[in-house]
Amino acid sequence: MKKRVCVVGGGFGGLTTAAYLAHSGHDVTLVEKNAELGGRARSWRTNGFVFDLGPSWYLMPEVFERFFGDLGRQREQYYGLRQLDPSYRVFFEKNDPVTVTPRIAESEALFESFEPGGGGRLREYLQAAKYKYDVAVGEFLYREYRSIFQFFNRRLLTEGLKLNVFSSLDRFVGRHFKDERARQILQYAMVFLGTSPEQAPALYSIMSHLDLTQGVWFPKGGMAAMVAGLERLLGDLGVTVRTAQPAREILVRNGRAAGVRTDEGTIDADAVVVNADYAHAELDLLAPEYRSYSARYWSRRVLAPTMLIVYLGYDHKLNNVAHHNLYFSQPWKPHFDAIFERPQWPEHPSYYVSCASYDDPEVAAPGHENVFFLVPVSPHLEDSDAIRERVVQRVMDHFGSISGNDMNRGILVKRIYSHRDFKSDYNAYQGTSLGLAHTLFQTAVFRPQMRSRKVRGLFYNGQYTHPGVGVPMTFIGSRIVRDIVAQELA
Ligand SMILES: Cc1cc2nc3c(=O)[nH]c(=O)nc-3n(C[C@H](O)[C@H](O)[C@H](O)COP(=O)(O)OP(=O)(O)OC[C@H]3O[C@@H](n4cnc5c(N)ncnc54)[C@H](O)[C@@H]3O)c2cc1C
Repeated sequence: MKKRVCVVGGGFGGLTTAAYLAHSGHDVTLVEKNAELGGRARSWRTNGFVFDLGPSWYLMPEVFERFFGDLGRQREQYYGLRQLDPSYRVFFEKNDPVTVTPRIAESEALFESFEPGGGGRLREYLQAAKYKYDVAVGEFLYREYRSIFQFFNRRLLTEGLKLNVFSSLDRFVGRHFKDERARQILQYAMVFLGTSPEQAPALYSIMSHLDLTQGVWFPKGGMAAMVAGLERLLGDLGVTVRTAQPAREILVRNGRAAGVRTDEGTIDADAVVVNADYAHAELDLLAPEYRSYSARYWSRRVLAPTMLIVYLGYDHKLNNVAHHNLYFSQPWKPHFDAIFERPQWPEHPSYYVSCASYDDPEVAAPGHENVFFLVPVSPHLEDSDAIRERVVQRVMDHFGSISGNDMNRGILVKRIYSHRDFKSDYNAYQGTSLGLAHTLFQTAVFRPQMRSRKVRGLFYNGQYTHPGVGVPMTFIGSRIVRDIVAQELA
């Protein structure tokens, strides 16, 4: 039956939920605080550059194909895609940089060059990762968890050890590989999940199936093109989109969600789906009696890191870079400690350098380079201009020295972005960029629930809920929410 649904927030979670619900026949209105859609995946156009402000790794391509397939459409109608080759380049502290390609044989040769027998062990490691990935996608990701018994189900209890749910990734990788470079390549992606290799369950070795086996993909024109494609999709599906209209209150009548109040008035609805940061929605948009989780609950979560980012537009091309570039400090543990154990600005951080114009002509003028540096940092830090500048300068100089570039020359555009921007732009809890870390006890049933515990017809999705952080996860979460809304509104 056709119902009125209001979606609060136009990040990937909100856009895809709105699409699913409109496709299910509902009358959907989406309200977004910012002038543009995309949330953390918004873009910034200036001086001929198109900067993706947030995500830049397009992993798990089949999740996106499934989304469009669910809607009876094809992804190609909305945005194009290409596989990156090389997948990424890695710079180390003491060793030469290496290039990772989409070809497994080349990755095996690379790991063999790190340590004798490393190639064969990588093959076995990736076979096991594929098995775990297939189980995760088939059984764990595309479902709602409401009770602990659903999580600790027969499959998990009988296969938990094989799936490596109960050991840490750090120890697991250490059992297979001794060479620091091999270990770092197999663990760096934990930062994508907002956690550290020590805290992450070894199940997350599935991330290596993504980057080493499935390969790294990129939308033509960047995430900006993907967001634009979704905006067109919402138009095709008849969703009403209201940008620059923050929700001020979630309205509740007789224990049911009744709509949303914005500065422009009230949007009546039979159901509300919140994609905005969960903690913000609960603490700022709902009266205390309607909150599922208290302020104390949020203050006791393990927050994912936030990001110190500098966007740079250059008037020339850089040397020795690929599209994605990673630098791993050695030892890298002090940086993880500075994020999770003893919050402080890192002295010698690992970092990521995106250079989308390496192979995408749409994001910079010919001969120019579109670059950003990203340093994961604790959300619990003082974020002053002076500190930002100091850390950014250190990282730019460091990358210049290891890549053979003068990173201070020919800068046409420079913008630094960190804690307070995440807060003011997205209402991010404590300025976290990624929400909640994926520790074992913040996974699946242990993440904040998708159904409100207090208000019928009120739902949540996006990176704070299950399945969690990352663009593909938000698409999966929206499919789960579609089914929950269907059950509840039936
Ligand atoms: C710097 C960075 C790099 C990343 N890199 C990657 C990557 O390479 N690959 C990957 O897969 N993932 C990456 N991620 C993670 C990924 O981007 C996120 O997990 C995902 O985009 C989150 O989507 P979301 O819909 O849950 O939240 P959001 O994108 O934050 O959407 C929430 C929306 O709600 C809006 N909102 C907030 N308050 C209100 C209100 N009161 N009223 C109305 N609207 C409101 C916000 O403005 C926002 O648009 C990265 C994230 C960051 C920050």
